[in-house]
Amino acid sequence: MTDLQAIAIEQLKGVGPRLRERLNNYGVYSAQDLLFHLPLRYQDRTRITPIGGLQLGVDAVIEGEVKVADITFGKRRSLLCKLQDGTGLISLRFFHFSAAQKKQLQPGTRLRCYGEPRRGGAGLEIYHPEYQLLDEQHTAELDDRLTPVYPTTEGIGQSVWRKLCLQALTLLENHKPQELLSEHPLARFPLSDALHFLHHPPPKARLSLLREGLHPAQRRLAFEELLAHNLAMLKTRQQTQQRGAVPMPASVQLQRAFLQQLGFQLTNAQQRVCEEIAADLRLERPMLRLVQGDVGSGKTVVAAMAALQVIEQGFQVAVMAPTEILAEQHYLNFQQWFAPLGLETGWLVGKLKGKARQKSLATIANGEAQLVIGTHALFQEDVIYQRLGLAIIDEQHRFGVHQRLALTQKARPEDGHPHQLVMTATPIPRTLAMTAYADLDTSIIDELPPGRTPVNTVVIDNARRSQIIERIAHVCAKGQQVYWVCTLIEESEALQAQAAEAVFENLQKALPNLQIALVHGRQKPQEKADIMAAFKAGTTQLLVATTVIEVGVDVPNASLMVIENAERLGLSQLHQLRGRVGRGALESHCVLLYQSPLSRTGRERLRALRESSDGFVIAEKDLMLRGPGEMLGTRQTGLMQFRIADLQRDGDLLEDVRQSAESVATDKRLSSALIDRWLGEKTNYAAV
Ligand code: ADP
Ligand code: MG
Repeated sequence: MTDLQAIAIEQLKGVGPRLRERLNNYGVYSAQDLLFHLPLRYQDRTRITPIGGLQLGVDAVIEGEVKVADITFGKRRSLLCKLQDGTGLISLRFFHFSAAQKKQLQPGTRLRCYGEPRRGGAGLEIYHPEYQLLDEQHTAELDDRLTPVYPTTEGIGQSVWRKLCLQALTLLENHKPQELLSEHPLARFPLSDALHFLHHPPPKARLSLLREGLHPAQRRLAFEELLAHNLAMLKTRQQTQQRGAVPMPASVQLQRAFLQQLGFQLTNAQQRVCEEIAADLRLERPMLRLVQGDVGSGKTVVAAMAALQVIEQGFQVAVMAPTEILAEQHYLNFQQWFAPLGLETGWLVGKLKGKARQKSLATIANGEAQLVIGTHALFQEDVIYQRLGLAIIDEQHRFGVHQRLALTQKARPEDGHPHQLVMTATPIPRTLAMTAYADLDTSIIDELPPGRTPVNTVVIDNARRSQIIERIAHVCAKGQQVYWVCTLIEESEALQAQAAEAVFENLQKALPNLQIALVHGRQKPQEKADIMAAFKAGTTQLLVATTVIEVGVDVPNASLMVIENAERLGLSQLHQLRGRVGRGALESHCVLLYQSPLSRTGRERLRALRESSDGFVIAEKDLMLRGPGEMLGTRQTGLMQFRIADLQRDGDLLEDVRQSAESVATDKRLSSALIDRWLGEKTNYAAV
């Protein structure tokens, strides 16, 4: 459809500068964009429905005779008009009306109306129906096609979309798009037929299938779009690899020294993944590897091993985390490991300002900082690395592809592309991983360090809070320790801290004999570190915390965790939190407190957590209940935005998409044509 991509929207009839701007702001630039702007739903104005056969919430055309038309004074003044045909009676209600309108709707008048019936005081009602008067001579014609209703934005009405899309369909006739899927069974619905059908379905089209997005015409488009995205990622990967990288020979010294001081043996899974990484790093092309592993599987150690191999060759390593709290936990961990090896760890986050920031930037630029830990701040424009060799990105799913690429631009040009290691704590369902990370090789740490005990999870109504408090006293009397996690839906650290403060005070009153401490994101790093150290040492028995403790805390003597408002958190986050108990040999428990009433999905989600301790199973469930946007964090980052496809709805296509992508990728022309059609220049992953 190269032709239609080249036809700018302003070349269409009726598009002046103002409308053009509105359409552009909405992401519509060309005739092709219009065709890919599919209706949200359809109205059926092809037939008349008897009033007696109307269904609640299903809009329809009706015809009848006005029986009464009166102004009523309920909560709001309105004009109420009763319309009757041979089968029933319905109310039409107008909150805004003119005197002329009232006069027009005299009893005896015949009307044709269109609208959505809702429940009214006495039977069904339609608010503000579209209507026209019928007279004996002229009966207006019904439509011969279903009427599309488009997703829209302020300032662009439905009639505008309908007119423009019709024009685009006419253009499509004269510029038949090349069929790029001819090999595939879904292509039995050719592209142009699918577009015609979806913008203008015949009356017999199956509305229920269309509503679900499962019509073959929709599936065919979704498939092609997913395929194009997959191909774009494969291309990005290829281009990255072509840039080459500095090979990093195996470490002979630092890794051994590190393992010796570690105090535990790597699990088999950790060893295997370390070897996969070491082998990648030795090559002259950049490593592009994703490490997936359940919470507590020990990804940080694996990252440290990779870092050491690179540092030993005189290169720097950057570790990027999505939040300052996460970055801080990494900083504490790495510093504790690396300082004894004589290595310098730098620190850079958005909060760092003025002199402190300048100092930090200087150590990064002169290479004093061999390892740098931070957030997005790590790839701001004024950050210059002496010699970046490896970028480690934790919790990848919260970053967009663009952010990942921006960091890697920080290598010196003559060094090619830095190696990349991406770690995700949220196990991603396989099909989703294949799509979201088509450009990465994958390693999985599928084993937990020894000595962990499964956590017994219970779901309890907040009304039974006092029983839980008794239980805490009991657990602590046995010499064990407890976490109490406060959650708030707001992302604001200030509000979270406030809520935790209140809970802390109440628990102090209820349990006066216990040593209780409070930790939250607003405390100074040193203060936080001291509080955590006291908990680790066993001086503190009950730790009240915000979700700060999601990461990096390791206290084997803690055997009970209470999570408040558990229904508000994502399953994977709850799973991560729960991973903080059951770290020793003690039998451990996790109490999920919820605020009733609990919604049906809410109940299902908490049940999933009670029934499984496998992060992958939980992630699948999370995906099912919440959708991939939430899971991958795409809402915020804009990673993988589709025009038509929906990863959840079209999930069953992904395996097929991946296989097709592999074979299509060998055909450069076809692959480019698909990428160009669906991603155009706007979203060229490789161009960042
Ligand atoms: P995650 O994969 O969730 O990031 P971490 O890297 O934070 O997990 O590791 C969780 C805890 O397990 C840490 O305290 C870490 O020191 C410890 N750990 C990691 N590997 C091992 C191992 N092989 N044996 C014992 N403990 C380990
Ligand atoms: Mg981690």
